[in-house]
Amino acid sequence: AAKQFDVVVVGSGGAGLAAAIQAHDEGASVLIVEKMPTIGGNTIKASAGMNAAETRFQRVQGIQDSKELFYQESLKGGHNRNNPELLRRFVENAPEAIEWLATRGIMLNGITTTGGMSIERTHRPKDGSAVGGYLISGLVRNVTKRNIDVMLDTSVSDIIFENGEVTGVRLTTEENETVTVSTRSVIMATGGFSANSSMVVKYRPDLDGFVTTNHKGATGGGIALLERLGAATVDMGEIQIHPTVEQNTSYLISESIRGGGAILVSQKGSRFFNEMETRDKVSAQIIALPEKYAYIVFDEHVRAKNKAADEYIAKGLVTSASSPEALAETLGMDKQTFLDTLERYNGFVAKQHDDDFGRTTALRAPINEGPFHAIRIAPGVHHTMGGVTINTETCVLNSDKQIIPGAFAAGEVVGGIHGGNRIGGNAVADIIIFGTLAGHQAAMRAKQ
Ligand code: ADP
Repeated sequence: AAKQFDVVVVGSGGAGLAAAIQAHDEGASVLIVEKMPTIGGNTIKASAGMNAAETRFQRVQGIQDSKELFYQESLKGGHNRNNPELLRRFVENAPEAIEWLATRGIMLNGITTTGGMSIERTHRPKDGSAVGGYLISGLVRNVTKRNIDVMLDTSVSDIIFENGEVTGVRLTTEENETVTVSTRSVIMATGGFSANSSMVVKYRPDLDGFVTTNHKGATGGGIALLERLGAATVDMGEIQIHPTVEQNTSYLISESIRGGGAILVSQKGSRFFNEMETRDKVSAQIIALPEKYAYIVFDEHVRAKNKAADEYIAKGLVTSASSPEALAETLGMDKQTFLDTLERYNGFVAKQHDDDFGRTTALRAPINEGPFHAIRIAPGVHHTMGGVTINTETCVLNSDKQIIPGAFAAGEVVGGIHGGNRIGGNAVADIIIFGTLAGHQAAMRAKQ
């Protein structure tokens, strides 16, 4: 039998699930289609939290913040390249989005900060767990409670467009059958393309051979489907690199290890840059080394203070040794160079001045307490800022800035909001803010 839904949501990351719940709550019949065998997309890997200014949770904790400052800091972080209308809408709707989650049992009432933000506005689970898993399990609970249909292992292979509007989608199911679903509203929440190396290299030849921190499904197919309908794209070359990714597992090594006092050391055994610079600059320096990788080096003092470090040890990512000499030996580094590096750095800590690279933050403590630890890292592709163009109501736009009737998009598939560099905590905000907006718009269209 032919299937018919008011709204078809493509992708089951945060944007897709939020859109589906909102459309359902406005009376629409909704189908979620996910190409992978599991729900959650790349959202499930998110760690920091969700940025928002002027929220109830900030007020309760006495944190003074303003939407205007949030706007300005996101713009600065994005190298002033963000789409101003989309960024305004983003900042304006952020506190509502925090409340939207709270009324659905998803409480982001622990507050912290990320690089580039001067105020505590990164909302996360109070118990300190990573935001991604908590968010997805909460959204899935809501989807299940509403009996919203979900098809896993099923990909949308075509959006059907007739007489100037969307009329349906073609799905390829788990059994490799083609199924046509009629609908007047498709929400593309298909995520970014960090895991599609040929697409990454097409826009950024300099990223050839880079690993990615993303899940396998981040292949950007949704962008191509929308382009066939005439959708325009923006900022496709704006791709965020994370400097410290373990290369065998593609495991992201948190900035908090450096923030706790770790240094970066080359294969030669030397420091080469201010470890606390922004992601793009640190990445560029690692790539400029002849071996194109480096080691995060820390001592027992740093390990003991960071839960993440134990996780890396448990995963087998860390090389440890009782003395700096033994560590250098295991890593195949020149011992004397490495010993000199530590001694010199410890001297900078003592006088709180880094003569070599001007590190001003996290010059915390000398690296002198055994055992000593190292993780070999290199940059990895982390986030694609570019994507399809939308208006502030999540309607997909063509190159004449005209809407494509029935096509909506939200989340990482969309370009423009983050400009040239996404601030940590702004991706989770993006998916909930624009996901719920897309759900609302699609449900309204169904009523027309
Ligand atoms: P966002 O953060 O924007 O919500 P995510 O990466 O979390 O994005 O989720 C996007 C989801 O969309 C992923 O689970 C991915 O597997 C899924 N997806 C991508 N393309 C398709 C497609 N053509 N059909 C079905 N699902 C898709």
